[in-house]
Amino acid sequence: MRYTPFGKIGYEVSSLGFGAMNLPGVPLEQARAALNYALDHGINYIDTAAGYRNSEEIIGESISHRRQEYFLATKTNKRDYATAKEEINRSLMRMKTDHVDLLQIHYVNYVTEYQKAMDEGGAYEAALEAQREGKVRHIGITGHRPELLAKWVRSGKFDQVLFHLNLAQPFAKEELIPVLNELNMGRVAMKPLSGGFIQPVEKAVRYPYSQDVHVTISGMVSVDEVRENIAAQEREVGEEERQELHGLALELGTHSCRRCNYCSCPLEIPIPDVMISSVVRDKFGLLPKGNGFYDKHREKLLSCADYEPCREKPLCEQKCPYHLPMRRVIMESAAALV
Ligand code: SF4
Ligand code: SF4
Repeated sequence: MRYTPFGKIGYEVSSLGFGAMNLPGVPLEQARAALNYALDHGINYIDTAAGYRNSEEIIGESISHRRQEYFLATKTNKRDYATAKEEINRSLMRMKTDHVDLLQIHYVNYVTEYQKAMDEGGAYEAALEAQREGKVRHIGITGHRPELLAKWVRSGKFDQVLFHLNLAQPFAKEELIPVLNELNMGRVAMKPLSGGFIQPVEKAVRYPYSQDVHVTISGMVSVDEVRENIAAQEREVGEEERQELHGLALELGTHSCRRCNYCSCPLEIPIPDVMISSVVRDKFGLLPKGNGFYDKHREKLLSCADYEPCREKPLCEQKCPYHLPMRRVIMESAAALV
């Protein structure tokens, strides 16, 4: 495990962070064992959010007695002062602590949303107030539009950014990380497997580890998963491996989907998942979760080709800020299922 000072925040963070998003899906005893095993084995960064069901409560139940051993990061997806303030206080109560080390304004993907959170009466004001009261040590931001985040952090109002960086979504490498580096900000990558789609797993975990980030958040739910993730960061990445991972990322990231979710489909096709997984699927096949995804959505994918309102001008493509050819990719994916 590597430890580095967390940009201007300074705390020596472990290169692997515990993503607690999926803990609500497993028995409490299992979650408790995974969290404690992680702390016992050198992970000192715990990431959660008020919006991750009862994840914060699980943290409170499982490791609040070891509070001095970890850097605690949570998020609020509220945009106005009053509800954000309420949510921050609720997070502290749920996690049985008097402060979080980092509060992130969560999932900011639209300019209008950013403005709402930052204007007078917005969520940022609640974060600043909590900071003055000692309830929040630092303020960060998360989002899925790296080029917008790169503009917003120039305001100097944030100490850290959480963003996608994985073999199939390497976009932050060019669009965001250089700016964060210049501003000496905390750099945290998330979703090394992009929600269970990317393989080989070891390469997927080692890719963000090979990049200029302080922490990679991996969503984990068991001692075995923690052990597997730690093992993938046991040795440093040499130049040859770095080049190999870089080449793979160029190949797997050709779909250009940022997972910003601007698109929506009347047939409820999960477009970003198909965009991101299709290139990995064609090259390496899929992990069990990916296969389950295609089984589950098979009928929907097949119906895209016949959906009349999209024949002339696909509805989803009109909303994509990156002008991606989603209909073609969905139809190719559907054809591969027949
Ligand atoms: S083109 Fe296909 S995926 Fe896009 S909105 Fe229409 S039906 Fe949905
Ligand atoms: S397909 Fe386009 S709009 Fe949809 S999530 Fe990807 S980048 Fe965003």
